[in-house]
Amino acid sequence: MLFPLFSLACTLVRAPGLPQALPESQPQNDDALMQTVSVRSITAANWAVPLEGLVDLTDPAAAELEEGPYEMEVLVHVIEHPVHGRWLVDSGVSQEPGERVADAGVLLGGFLKDMEVLTSTAELLEEGSVAGVLLTHMHVDHVLGLQDLPLDTPLWTGPGEGSTRSGQNLLLRPWYSQAFSGRSLQSFDVGQAQSFGPVPVAWDLFGDGSVWVLSTPGHTAGSIAVWARTEQGPVLMTGDTSHTRWGWEHDVTPGTYTEDHVDNAEALAQLRALAALDPATQVVFGHER
Ligand SMILES: [Zn+2]
Repeated sequence: MLFPLFSLACTLVRAPGLPQALPESQPQNDDALMQTVSVRSITAANWAVPLEGLVDLTDPAAAELEEGPYEMEVLVHVIEHPVHGRWLVDSGVSQEPGERVADAGVLLGGFLKDMEVLTSTAELLEEGSVAGVLLTHMHVDHVLGLQDLPLDTPLWTGPGEGSTRSGQNLLLRPWYSQAFSGRSLQSFDVGQAQSFGPVPVAWDLFGDGSVWVLSTPGHTAGSIAVWARTEQGPVLMTGDTSHTRWGWEHDVTPGTYTEDHVDNAEALAQLRALAALDPATQVVFGHER
């Protein structure tokens, strides 16, 4: 079944020209344009990685921070849409990621050895099937749940994310090939994008304004963030455009894990401006909340 991922009709109705502010947060007369979803953020795993990867410690604003391991969460978000079903933002973690990726060799095994799985993607699937997955990017900690998902689960990511630069390390390529083998990975099309507030490239996922996929290149070439309208207010899932609350609050980009700091800084500024439009916005960071 095909989803109406891009609704030109909706564009024409809602916003002639480029909207500079968000649509109203609360349902009004036109329910079709004020559809809400529910969002749950779940800790798939606890993990510790070097802080220098998560926060740019060379930024003068980060002078107060010290290098060292930083305890963080691997998050997966569950979006429930009344018509379009359950979607995941990122894939979570399969039950035993270290064992399942043993074939990838020492590198990935060592990378994951301190990861403690709390809620596997298989457990999430016990609640019901998943209609699609939005991968905020394809770094390995965001695709570790793929093994638990049926092969025909539609996977979506940002423009260019499936390119050769997307892997964190050339040595992981065999594992990526295995993880994505037989799967459908699609990219959002820049030619069909709209602006969403201060974010110039965005897609109305279901054509009803409930979930917007936001292009946030920088951390990786095709990174995306996700904004959702809930009855409690907007939820902004930044992906790794900001791994941490500290980085968000101090306007400091991620560190060595980011590919392009200039682009990352621009994307981070756009997301901060978007969140500032509605004080009720709940912001969930890439690895922290
Ligand atoms: Zn990450």
